[in-house]
Amino acid sequence: MSAPIALSESASEMIYLDHHATTPCDARVLETMLPFFSVHFGNAASKQHAFGWAANDAVERARKQVAALIGAGSKDVIFTSGATEANNLAIKGAAAARQGERDHLVTVATEHKAVLDPMKRLEQQGWALTVLPVDGAGIVDLGELSDAITDRTALVSVMAANNEIGVLQPIKEAAQLAHAKGAWFHTDAVQAVGKVPFDVDALDVDFASMTAHKIYGPKGVGALYVRRKRVTVAAEIDGGGHERGLRSGTLNVPGIVGFGQAAAIARTELPDEAGRTRALRDRLLNALLAKTDGVAVNGSLEARLPGNLNVSFDGIDGEALLVSLDDVAVSSGAACTAAEPSHVLVALGLSKDRALASLRFGIGRATTDAEIDHAAAKVSDVVARLRQMSPLRGA
Ligand SMILES: *Cc1c(COP(=O)(O)O)cnc(C)c1O
Repeated sequence: MSAPIALSESASEMIYLDHHATTPCDARVLETMLPFFSVHFGNAASKQHAFGWAANDAVERARKQVAALIGAGSKDVIFTSGATEANNLAIKGAAAARQGERDHLVTVATEHKAVLDPMKRLEQQGWALTVLPVDGAGIVDLGELSDAITDRTALVSVMAANNEIGVLQPIKEAAQLAHAKGAWFHTDAVQAVGKVPFDVDALDVDFASMTAHKIYGPKGVGALYVRRKRVTVAAEIDGGGHERGLRSGTLNVPGIVGFGQAAAIARTELPDEAGRTRALRDRLLNALLAKTDGVAVNGSLEARLPGNLNVSFDGIDGEALLVSLDDVAVSSGAACTAAEPSHVLVALGLSKDRALASLRFGIGRATTDAEIDHAAAKVSDVVARLRQMSPLRGA
């Protein structure tokens, strides 16, 4: 066997605190996937021989594992290429299914672009769209949500957990408000699934988007939960009729097997991992607060993912901050362009400068105390140094 691809020296010495962008594939997941590339390589749709049956069995086992993580029936899990596709399928697919009957959509300003952009596309095509604001803590107001939903609303989409500030939305209440007016309810559950308890029945959601690479699975595979007893979608990708006709295309068997294994591990380890990442998050925040003044947490600290911290620093140039953090991989928001403040932080009411002087920390399964301590010391040092030289000082 040839050597695995080596990380560049700089990458291997870096501390990875960007687990909202992606997570490393868990070694147990990779091991489960490997035979499905070249031994059990069959097409899951080949019904006439054992190669196909083995692949199909593995896909169905994975479907059960993914379904179990969210408390769903496995027939309601539709595999996709990721959450961007799952969001597009839910939003455009539900709109197409209800076209002519209803003409209005509702979402929230802090959603991922993979929700906002399909919504805007539908708006260009004639749908009415309401994008609700959030409060200073990043949470949608249920009274405003209730007022926005009418008997013309086809779909309401509210994310379960935000990918930048980790804030958890009141999904159960939001779904209830949607259903009270006959609207369907979708949630982008990418960041919540596997990190906090998420059960499609307890929350009564109609659609939920997930992706494997945010839960220590491979990239390029995800799923849309569709409560098929109540709702449906028009397919976006037509072809061989895979996935109950809702998503054609030969299934990514190794990826799906990995997704299933990642879901099974997440389900077993969730309580432990949530406790551990929360303790690390609190350790990081306390260290930053102890060493630096002018630190503010962005978004609610209570209604929040355990492994997320998003903070801004008074009087700091955000770009200089990121550049100086040469051995800590964090981000200033969703994979964003340096000059553009995050739409999420702007929605919280932060000024452009303050939004740009923010860091998102995403703590993960393998993060250690020592890494957190190093990151906190490094950030504090850099902030102190930048403040000494910065013309923004005292701003
Ligand atoms: C990562 C992410 C997505 C996109 O998922 P992909 O599988 O990478 O397409 C969508 N929504 C949220 C909240 C995310 O964090």
